[in-house]
Amino acid sequence: MKAAGATLAAPYAFGQTTSISSSQIASDLYLLSGAGCNVVLHTSNDGAVMVDGGLAQNAGALAQAVAAFPNSRPVRILFNTHWHPEQTGSNAPLGAAGATIIAHENTRLWLQQDITFPYATGPYSGQKAKKFPKVSQPNKTFYDKGALDSGIRYGYIADAAHTDGDIYVYFPQQNVLAVGDAVYGQGWPVIDWWTGGWIGGIVGGLQRIQTVVNKDTKIVPSVGRVLSFADLAEQVEMYGTIYDRLNQMINKGHSPTEGVEAKPAKEFEAKMGNADVFIRRAFESMWAYLSPDA
Ligand SMILES: [Zn+2]
Repeated sequence: MKAAGATLAAPYAFGQTTSISSSQIASDLYLLSGAGCNVVLHTSNDGAVMVDGGLAQNAGALAQAVAAFPNSRPVRILFNTHWHPEQTGSNAPLGAAGATIIAHENTRLWLQQDITFPYATGPYSGQKAKKFPKVSQPNKTFYDKGALDSGIRYGYIADAAHTDGDIYVYFPQQNVLAVGDAVYGQGWPVIDWWTGGWIGGIVGGLQRIQTVVNKDTKIVPSVGRVLSFADLAEQVEMYGTIYDRLNQMINKGHSPTEGVEAKPAKEFEAKMGNADVFIRRAFESMWAYLSPDA
């Protein structure tokens, strides 16, 4: 058994290496970092459950790190918290190995098509994502919520904070909630409005997640540190304030550039960093949300 915090290096495709670090959240629950997103691993005698799978080029290193934990083989169930490449890079090997891949139906629909992101600047600008072959697609999808025999529960974060397929996975025994990119643990969030996310969904999603957790729940986002209930409350305040300001500007007919120049997140930037890229994307997301057929 690897000690908590151990760093495991492993080769992956093309001879490059990435290093996966791990920390233990509970006796049978681990957080692995370095594969492209935070990965939550639940181990048991019946095999493992994994939430998100990192980038495809890191899948080998991640699999090797996972295999080092007791009761971690095979990975029987993989959750995709949404369709992005950072989350779905282990779908191919685990799907081929016969794992059940659980996701919201919208995530499966996105993975069935080629995606060309339309963004001129910021995250994913100029990038494309190739559709997945059938074996790599989620093979158990849902619309609302579900539960595993082990008691692990999962549900749709219907507000579309990040994409229109965002889900949470809740481990009741350990009181840990994995939330994908619907909540960020570091820096300004990415809003992928091309696949359904929007700024109003960040506020709505946070409020919805608050109804799933209690004050002792550990909330694990895809990016950054583990968050507390108090952190969520702080984020609801902040994004609520920013959303209201953007809403007023939209109603007055301002453009995204004017929105960025108005600095609607000014008082939060000392803690969060420059918000320009986030604000532009948030502004665009409101246009996309309010006039989806435009
Ligand atoms: Zn994402």
